[in-house]
Amino acid sequence: MKLVLLLMTLISYSVFSQTPDYSKVEWVCEELEASDPPFYVSDEYRQGDKIWENLRNIDNSRIADTYIPRGSIVEVDEQLFQYGEGVPDYRVPIRVLSLPSEEEEQKVRDAKWRKRDSIAQMARVGRKKRAEVDSIGWLDHRALKQAKNFVFFVKEDAEVHADSGVPYVGPTYLEFKLRNGKYLVNRCCTPDSFGGEEKCFDKHLMNVIDSNGDVLTERYINHQECSFLTDSRPIRNTEIDSVRNILNMVRKESPNTAIDELEMLPPLQAWRGSKSIITRKEMTKIPVDEETQEGPYGSFHYKPDDAVSSDAYLKPTSMCAFMRVMEKWKTLCGEPGCQIQFGDLYHHDNWGAHSGHDSGECVDIRPMRKDDDLDVGLTYKQTRRYDREKTRDFVKLIKKSGARITIFNDRRIPGVRNDGGSVHNDHLHVCFGENRPKVQESCKDGL
Ligand SMILES: [Zn+2]
Repeated sequence: MKLVLLLMTLISYSVFSQTPDYSKVEWVCEELEASDPPFYVSDEYRQGDKIWENLRNIDNSRIADTYIPRGSIVEVDEQLFQYGEGVPDYRVPIRVLSLPSEEEEQKVRDAKWRKRDSIAQMARVGRKKRAEVDSIGWLDHRALKQAKNFVFFVKEDAEVHADSGVPYVGPTYLEFKLRNGKYLVNRCCTPDSFGGEEKCFDKHLMNVIDSNGDVLTERYINHQECSFLTDSRPIRNTEIDSVRNILNMVRKESPNTAIDELEMLPPLQAWRGSKSIITRKEMTKIPVDEETQEGPYGSFHYKPDDAVSSDAYLKPTSMCAFMRVMEKWKTLCGEPGCQIQFGDLYHHDNWGAHSGHDSGECVDIRPMRKDDDLDVGLTYKQTRRYDREKTRDFVKLIKKSGARITIFNDRRIPGVRNDGGSVHNDHLHVCFGENRPKVQESCKDGL
């Protein structure tokens, strides 16, 4: 009897206590549709125009000692629900998988300080510390956005290219492939015959998109195994086409520009209960050299508000169309006097100056000069420097791009509005309305 017991103990020991060798398992896989995303992108809930949300202490959700930048990738951690006693049910425990660039956030913080609604204030965090990869905490569930609302720009050195056989053919984007709004999952589990604990992993079907926006191929990607999350940046799928076109233009001039060098601000939202209404879209900053103030295609940013050019943001589609104008103008007019010298772009109305720049669609541009690109303003009345012909051609191009308003006081330039005073004697006020089909077309196909 003792022997039998001993044998049974030995058998059970060998079956249950050995570390199962999962590498030898023949996984049993099935295709399914899932409503829950594999991860979320973090946003904010009623933080106003802030670029972060509170990540509340996992042990005591009343303590908000950490902030999580909007656009971080997080997973809802089921295992942490044990801490949930007393936590309001609109907060969920999350684990941080990846965060946006800290350098970019610092630039927002370094922007000029103003009394109200300044860009610098968007990054003001007080004594809170920044969340890190693997940080855990409670996040308001209203500050979680489903992964399917985003496209993921994959950095070129990302392991995803090696891990999942996604070829590197230039900048690549990944988006979830959906059916009826649901994620397509390939779930693999250990077979019933396997003695260890049942283990499963999910792979999600994703489209691999190239820099033209064409689908190259599709791949099942296990986000836990492959590093594409830490090597990627989520961009809302409503903005991805414009952002991609902007990046393509930037990369034509400096081929190694990474997506993180394209500075972006998240949108401003108004909240009605659990519903967010975007009142100002995300914005992109025109890449401007901090030393020389030079912008794309030989352009120049005059009188920047501060060292980080925090007055150089536009909505993505507006900025894309403006850059298309720059791209084309360079081929039409390359001699001295042709440089596009631009001043203010997005300016919140509360900043006082430059009303009419609150939309994030408008830009001020100096008139063209006869033969100089000096950083010195001029009016259309300075006939020795002012070049009417070039300015007329430039306005023609702006009209062609679909811009909705062009204000300039030289009545001899067709197609411009006069302000009735003298404010627009020395600059053109141009607005690239992002909703105008022609502006969208210019962004997409160029001029
Ligand atoms: Zn203006």
